Amino acid sequence: MYIGVDDTDSVKGGCTTYLATEIIKEFQEYDVIGYPRLVRLNPNIPWKTRGNGAVSIKFGKGAGKKFLVGEIENKKYYGYSGFKNDRNISMNDAGKRLEKIMNKYAFFDDKNTNPAFVIMEKKPEQGLYWDAVRKIVNLDYVKKILKQNNALYHGYKNKRGLIGASSAVAWRPKDKTYEVITYREKKKIGSERNVNEESVIKMDKKFPFTFNNYDYINKKIIIAPSSPCPVLFGIRGDKTVLLNPMKTIKSEKIERWLIFETNQGTDEHLVRKKIRNTKAYDSVITKGKIVSKPKTIIGGHVIFPISENNHQIDCAAYEPTKNFRNLVRELVKDDVVTVFGGVREKPLTVNVEKIKIEKLAEVYEKLIPVCPKCNKKMKSIGKAQGYRCRRCGVKTKEIETKKIERKINPGFYEVPVCARRHLSKPLKRF
Ligand SMILES: [Zn+2]
Repeated sequence: MYIGVDDTDSVKGGCTTYLATEIIKEFQEYDVIGYPRLVRLNPNIPWKTRGNGAVSIKFGKGAGKKFLVGEIENKKYYGYSGFKNDRNISMNDAGKRLEKIMNKYAFFDDKNTNPAFVIMEKKPEQGLYWDAVRKIVNLDYVKKILKQNNALYHGYKNKRGLIGASSAVAWRPKDKTYEVITYREKKKIGSERNVNEESVIKMDKKFPFTFNNYDYINKKIIIAPSSPCPVLFGIRGDKTVLLNPMKTIKSEKIERWLIFETNQGTDEHLVRKKIRNTKAYDSVITKGKIVSKPKTIIGGHVIFPISENNHQIDCAAYEPTKNFRNLVRELVKDDVVTVFGGVREKPLTVNVEKIKIEKLAEVYEKLIPVCPKCNKKMKSIGKAQGYRCRRCGVKTKEIETKKIERKINPGFYEVPVCARRHLSKPLKRF
């Protein structure tokens, strides 16, 4: 039995991953098969709540290798690498129990929160996941898939949560990462988090398979969110052994924790596209030549247009990308770059997550000629008219140029950790 849940959180609180811990607690007569999954979907959807993450969990009778997936209210929960057939699972019973959890934990009063759950015996086609991470999926299309798969489901309010809940179940990990998420004691939720900065830095250095822990440039802890949700901190990594780094963090009490298998840090939202084919809400990898020098606009955002075969699009390094903007400001006309990022609608702009500087244009500066007789700098007569020596009157039209040393080098660059999207693949993972 697969359970998918989405969109239960709000800007005011909650977290769909916290619901996952409540679901595992509720269904403790079953085993968790594999790891619970946290699946991030199209980050450019305008009506998403926060990170656009949905959760799916597979329950059944475990077989094969047993491993610890979490600890909830002092009880350890295990996942299994395989499963045996179990005819005792009742989807109807599961549906009733899920309704109760939703009613207790989902934030129904937020206008942007449209919770949903799905229960299925079979996974939907994986095309649904790819559509949900890269495009905008039609709700009727999802309902059709749910019916075809004999799913039991409940979409609340505008029912959009069904899209994420079903897509999370449809995910087949190709590239994948893990995240251990720790949660706060109930009485602490909403107050300032106590997570020791030094211990985060130490952990980051000691466990190189983890990523997005700490922003050294902006001196900021990234593992702990700033929203009023129940999450204390989350450590992301390429391996499942996230308990070791978790234990080195000095913090307030961890009330519960759970390890998720995720598509975070995989770039699965990105599609290689030509500039002319790029549309709003896409996430693209697109190559072009810098059209003109990057401009800093009000708010500190840096905008630079790129073009390919006479098609042009603006790219932006927004203010929150901090020092990344300094790199972008060094770009000049005719540099060739590949940008990675989500496309916002108005005005159509690629929000740059990563950039690969393919080729730097050669930049020359004119050298003011020196009079061969007087050894003095000559004066310009006028535009394209050449130079004249003020002392002896000698003229010249031959102007020497000097190649300017560029301050940047070809290669990959990414926004700082503090501005990174959940789905963006850190260069560390390349
Ligand atoms: Zn002279």
